[in-house]
Amino acid sequence: MPRMRIKSILIATFAASSMTILAQDQPIRIHAATILDGTGRLLRNATIVVQGSKISAIEATASGPATYELGRLTIIPGMIDVHAHLGWHFGKDGRFPDHPGTAAEEILYSAENAYVTLMAGFTTIQSPGQPNDVELRDLAARGIFPSPRILTSIRQLNERSGTADEIREKVRQLKKDGADVVKIFASASIRDGGKQTMTDEQLQAACGEAKAQGLRTMVHAHSPESIKASVNAGCQQIEHGVFADEEVMKLMADKGVYFDPNIGVVLQNYLRNKPKYLGVGNYNEAGFAYMEKGLAINAAMIKKAVATPNLKLVLGTDAVAGAHGRNADEIVERVKQGNQKPMDAIVSATSLSAKSLNLDRTIGTLAPGYEADLVALDGDPASDITAVTRVVFVMKGGKVYKHVASGAGHGTNH
Ligand SMILES: [Zn+2]
Repeated sequence: MPRMRIKSILIATFAASSMTILAQDQPIRIHAATILDGTGRLLRNATIVVQGSKISAIEATASGPATYELGRLTIIPGMIDVHAHLGWHFGKDGRFPDHPGTAAEEILYSAENAYVTLMAGFTTIQSPGQPNDVELRDLAARGIFPSPRILTSIRQLNERSGTADEIREKVRQLKKDGADVVKIFASASIRDGGKQTMTDEQLQAACGEAKAQGLRTMVHAHSPESIKASVNAGCQQIEHGVFADEEVMKLMADKGVYFDPNIGVVLQNYLRNKPKYLGVGNYNEAGFAYMEKGLAINAAMIKKAVATPNLKLVLGTDAVAGAHGRNADEIVERVKQGNQKPMDAIVSATSLSAKSLNLDRTIGTLAPGYEADLVALDGDPASDITAVTRVVFVMKGGKVYKHVASGAGHGTNH
């Protein structure tokens, strides 16, 4: 009798484990009317086949069985935001806090922001200057908690970071601590006029040492002279650039420097949430007046940036408290204010942003061998760019995190 029991348990265990293996081997097949692959290519009525965490094939037919029948929806690669401040969140009183909360509050606020960002279709984000991003990045990488992939600078460098030698040492320490990128402040905030703050020597030390350590650099720079100094120091990516003129845009294009203008989310969010920020630090009436003026300056700047030949525009929002989950508004405003072609805006938010992160062989494109990061939109962004704000399906690394059935259900007109 005991012998029989052991035998049957063994059989049951074997059967269960072989079934598990079978289930893992089973590919997921996703049909949709339109697929934009992230590099500018468009496919009609195709099937994406996912095996494990990766795309194994894209079939040019939507016949055959589907695990997810997405009907008339449009599939694009999971979107990428190269500049979002995951740690920023309003406090218990609903206002922007002037001091950090407890460690537990802070990390849970970040986790909330990560969740709403993923639900908005952003499967990868770069979060500058937040030390507890390291724990959050590791949480996301374990693949249980719903979060975008996270890249972090951990800390940031600015004009108070010391001599050139001290800055080089700080960059080496960032490398040891596992930073994905070095965040540098070359200019003041727009609320303080945006003038260059770090010296040319400090910038050369920061970007030179980062390059030597194999680390990417992203530089907060508003004024033309701070942008020029950063580009000439060998820095790889310029953030914001509210006062960027045609000369520095051409310089960035010539040097292959990525430009990450933030014209559609951050200032609009501050102005929408003014009562929640007003009175903290430089969030005063003068600061808000600068930001109000910044809207029109940004609108003129982005038109010039889009029109600059070969300028590599990546997609970043600078999302702060109140803005998480509205990241795709940046894409909409690129098209509306900047006259960027919808397809170019989508390429910017996917394959080009992936390239800026040195992840262009892994994410940002729908093709065999890439991570299965994809989202489905209710609408066709080529004719109505606001479709990028209607995300009804989110898959990251082959795992479905969101599937709103109604999005696929009511469409019969394709
Ligand atoms: Zn920022």
